[in-house]
This record gives sequence, C-alpha cells and structure tokens, in this order.
Amino acid sequence: MGVVVQKFGGSSVKDAERMMEAARKAIRAKHAGNKVIVVVSAQGSTTDDLIAKAAEITAAPSAREMDMLLATGEQISIALTAMAIHELGERAVSFTGPQIGIVTDSTHRKARIKKIDTQRLTEALDAGNIVVLAGFQGMDEQGEISTLGRGGSDTTAVAVAAALKLAGYEVECEIYTDVDGVYTTDPRIVPDARKMDAISYDEMLEMASMGAGVLHSRSIEFAKKFDVPLMVRNARSDAMGTWIVPEEPWMSEIPACGVALAADEARLVLEGVPDKPGVSHRVFAALADANVAVDMIAQSVGEGGKATIGFTVLNTELDKTKKLLGPLVAELGAMLNETGKVSKVSVVGAGMRAMSGVAERMFQALAVEGVNLKMITTGDIKISVLVEEDGLSESGVIPALDAPPEPIKKVHLESKKAVRGRRALRAVHAAFGLANPRKGAGEKTASNGEFKPRPNPLVVAAARDREAAIARLEGMEDVMVSGVHLNIEQSRITIHDLPDIPGNCSKVFNAVATGGILVDMIVQNQSGPTKAELSFTVPRADLTRALKRTQDVVREIDSSCRVVGDGDIAVLFVLGVGMRTHTGVARTMFGALAARGINISMINTSEVCVGVVVERARGDEALACLTEAFKLG
Ligand code: ADP
Ligand code: ASP
Ligand code: MG
Repeated sequence: MGVVVQKFGGSSVKDAERMMEAARKAIRAKHAGNKVIVVVSAQGSTTDDLIAKAAEITAAPSAREMDMLLATGEQISIALTAMAIHELGERAVSFTGPQIGIVTDSTHRKARIKKIDTQRLTEALDAGNIVVLAGFQGMDEQGEISTLGRGGSDTTAVAVAAALKLAGYEVECEIYTDVDGVYTTDPRIVPDARKMDAISYDEMLEMASMGAGVLHSRSIEFAKKFDVPLMVRNARSDAMGTWIVPEEPWMSEIPACGVALAADEARLVLEGVPDKPGVSHRVFAALADANVAVDMIAQSVGEGGKATIGFTVLNTELDKTKKLLGPLVAELGAMLNETGKVSKVSVVGAGMRAMSGVAERMFQALAVEGVNLKMITTGDIKISVLVEEDGLSESGVIPALDAPPEPIKKVHLESKKAVRGRRALRAVHAAFGLANPRKGAGEKTASNGEFKPRPNPLVVAAARDREAAIARLEGMEDVMVSGVHLNIEQSRITIHDLPDIPGNCSKVFNAVATGGILVDMIVQNQSGPTKAELSFTVPRADLTRALKRTQDVVREIDSSCRVVGDGDIAVLFVLGVGMRTHTGVARTMFGALAARGINISMINTSEVCVGVVVERARGDEALACLTEAFKLG
C-alpha cells in the first residue's frame, strides 16, 4: 500500500471551511486505498502575527524562545485538522514534530533535519489513522524545539515522504497551495504567467532558491536526493498541478522555463582585497562558520593586485555579516561597503546549458527597460542579475501590477516595493515568450495526454550510486556532492572599466551571440564608482573570434575599456544538491584550493553547481584536491 503525504499551506487551512476541504481531500486519498499523512502549516498569517507579537516586546528576541513561540502556530492547525477529519467520520491523530521524532540540528529558526524516526508514524498509520503532522518544526538532540525557516512546512512534508521511502514504502508527496501549480513566474506579479505541467528538480531548485516562494527550496533538495515524486497543486480544485521530476529530454529544448524575483537580499562590496590565494576562502569561511549563506559572489581583479569582491546575503543577515567581517576587513586593509536596496532577477532553464544567446536575450530585454545591472552571475542553468531599487519612492507603482487577489502576505509586501525588480521580471518573462503555450506548459508533452512522470532511466542507472551517497550522509539534510569536473576547453574574456550604464552588457553579448558562440560563466562586478568589470567564458576554439567581436563592440562603447583574452584557464565544477544553501560547500572548495596555493579568479555559485576558474596549468591538481576534499575518489 502506498503512502500519500499531502501538505496544506497557511491559506489552505486558514479557516474552518478551508480546513474541512483539506480534510475531505485527505479522506478521499485514504478511501482510494492509500495511507495518508497530512502536513499542515499555521493558519493564514498566524506565523507573521506571532513574529509581530514578539516584536511588541523586544527587538532582539532569543532564538530559542522564538522557536517556542512560532511552533505553536502549527500546533493549533494539527489539532483542528484532526478534529475536522473526525467530524467527517474518519480516524485521525495529530502529532507535533518533536512527538514524531523529527530530529534537527540546533540552529534555531533555520534548523536542518538530521533524521526522522518513522516508527510512531507508521504505527499510527497501521492502526488506520490519517496522521496529521505539524510542519516547520522539530526538536534538536538536547530536546529543544526548533523551526526550519519560513516556508519550512514544505520541507517537513517531503522529508517525511523521503524517510518513509527509505523505510521501504512507496510514497508520493502533494503540496496543496493557493495557485494551480508552479508557474513560469509568480502569477501575482505577472498575470500572464503560465502554469507548467512539469519542471525538473534542478530547475525548481534554482527557481525556488532564486525567489519563487511557491516551494521551500530545501523541500526540493529532499525530493531530488531521495527521488520522491512531488506535485504542487491547488487546494481548491482537483486539477493536475505541476510535477517536479528528474530532467526529461524535452526540458532542454527551451532556453528558459521560468523567471524569479527576490527582493530580500542586500549587496555588499569588499574593496581593496589583496589578490592572493586564500583570501576569498577566509572571507567566505568566516560567513560559513556563522551559518550565513552567501548568494551571488562576483570577484573582479582591479588595479595593483587588489581585487573587489561583490556578494549578496539576505537582508535579515546584513548586520550579522558586517559585524562578522569587521575584524578581517581591517586586517586585510580592505573596505566593506553596503550598496543600498537591490532586487535580484533570475532566469532559469535546462536548455541554456547548450544554447547560445540566452544571456543576450535577457540583457537586451533589461536594456530596453533602461535597467542597470549592478551585478551578474550565472550558474549551470540560471543567470541572475541585481537591479538597483534605490532612488525610487517606496510607493512607486507600476500600472496593473498592484491588485493582488488575496490578502497580501509579508513576502508579497516586500516584493511590492521592488518596483524596478518587478518591471525587470515582466520584461524578461516577455522576452522569453513564457506566456505562450509550449511543451510542458500548456501543450501536451506526450501523444497520450497529460504529463505523467515516468521512471527516469538515468535515475535508475544511478540508483546504486545514489544509495551509496545517501548511506554516507550523517544527517538527511546534509549536502550531497555528486561529482567534480574539470573543463580545460574554456577560455575567458575580461572587459575592464566598462561604463556602468544600462545596455552595455546587452551590446557585448549580442555581438558574441550573433557569432553563434556559447557563453558559459558570466560574472560582472563593480570595479569603481562608475565602472564595472565583466568576465565571461567561451569555448577555447572560439576565443579568437569572440575576442575580436568583443573588441569591436567595446571600441564603440568607450575607447578607454580594455579587453583581455585568456586561454590559460581551467574551470572546475562541483555538482550536487543544495550547494549554495549549505554554507560548507564553498568553504570546503575554497579551503582545499587555498591550502594548495591555487588562486581562484572567478566564482559562480548556484544550488546545483559551484564553479571556479583557476590557472590552466593547475587544473589537474585542483581536480585531484577537490575530489579528495569531497571524498569522491
Ligand atoms: P503556502 O501558504 O501554501 O505555503 P505560499 O505563499 O508559500 O503558499 O506559496 C504560494 C505562492 O507562491 C503563490 O500564491 C504565488 O504568489 C507565489 N509564487 C511565487 N513564485 C511562484 C511561481 N513560480 N509559481 C507559482 N506560485 C509562485
Ligand atoms: N508557518 C510557517 C511560515 O509561515 C511555515 C510554513 O508555512 O511553511 O513560514
Ligand atoms: Mg509556502
């Protein structure tokens, strides 16, 4: 008999009526012959209200007491949902996270799940109950209540499904929410966003971690790692939602599957850093040790052996970051500047791995909107840009954007402020034609109708490796690094002193793309008050052509720009799951290279891949040391 885990978000249990609807869905799944676990969030805006209550008392609540407080929201929901199921004549029993044995680490407010004991859960299921479980919470090894971070109920649901899968059950997880599934972008911001029938784990990971709040990104890590079938669907209908599945061949036929906006990050610029091996390691290790996840990292080499490192952290971690880096910044003789409000716009798609012109299309759309790009970074299947928000009044409004259909949640209030980010999001969404029907989003993917996930031959073939990798994990949510790769077929072009105004990147990448040249990594960073440094990699075989095209276009932009080509590079990629949010990956990677005195001249980070550029002559050595550092040998 299969187990279905159904998760209902805050809006789907916000009042008695919605709770009865959720209860009916659970009962139907049980009557269809499944064992059913219902994971619920706190009702409506309860979690926000609890945070506000704490703020009435103190600006700096203890993290332990905050978790004690926040966990109560979900406890209300489980009791009421169990009563709703009883009322409809079925058996149900509710449990909190600690009761069921969800063991986490001790990082209050963003605890990670270490293990889940399935015994009590399965006993309750075997006794014929629908199990109603509190999302978002667990208990550390000292017996303290912990919470998983905002949106964490999704992660509870998929993690429980994964634990049961490990225990030998056939499982499926359904995330019920207030939209029909995963859309090409947030439908509240872009009304013509299109629902997808399916999206790959990696694409969804990037979308979620780049701001698509429909799923907690850590829930997708669990789904991918443990191969849990996962669907996002509407709590108020029976329509098929969106399957999150292993990558299928048709997914790489489109350049972009979606775009996302994040308005909750702050940009910091570290100027005057000595350009020596190990310096970036020290900076990011200090943050990793304190559990601060760094998102975008762009490093540029300025004049006189001094580098500029730009990076972003969550707004909520800005003060902590500044405090943490203070002593190191002083020791390095550098300067740490904060650069005002920014929004991050990202485009995601498996197709961009092998298609040229994707970056160009994005930058062109932004240039037309007059949007200036303060920072650019790329990952294997995503490109992110930072857009400045300052200089606009907070109430700045774009027509036809500000009529949200539901009461606005906090996250949406924040994005409402991201006026330029929202405009940029719309422009990029339109540039990729994402509102149009296509395979996997509005057009049938198979001749026989609706999309259905099928066993993926790649996953089956890799199953033994995956099992071995899972067996090596100490905690269920530990990062899983699956491989290190060396690419010596790449070369790099760097443009120094590019005037920092809208449209320049678009011109450069247009020139390269019209030559049919595939651009892989892109990093753009500020290198002075009005200048930027732009680096990108192209295949070595195309370096001469790409260089010529770049030089020609740059000459038209500003004759004082310098263009440098470098065929002597090696690119190393570390692939895995949850690479960016697990702060330890970058630390291990930069640390291992620093220990060998290998200098990193370019860095790219994303959820599924961390890439660095080093000297070509040291490529093999770098590969060997990273293989050893991640115990992949
Ligand atoms: P729940 O309370 O059910 O967990 P959330 O508010 O966390 O719901 O997530 C659902 C919301 O996510 C939607 O209302 C939508 O505004 C937002 N969202 C952001 N990006 C996307 C996207 N790409 N597809 C669908 N919804 C999205
Ligand atoms: N109630 C928590 C929150 O609002 C967890 C969740 O809803 O997923 O963030
Ligand atoms: Mg949610």
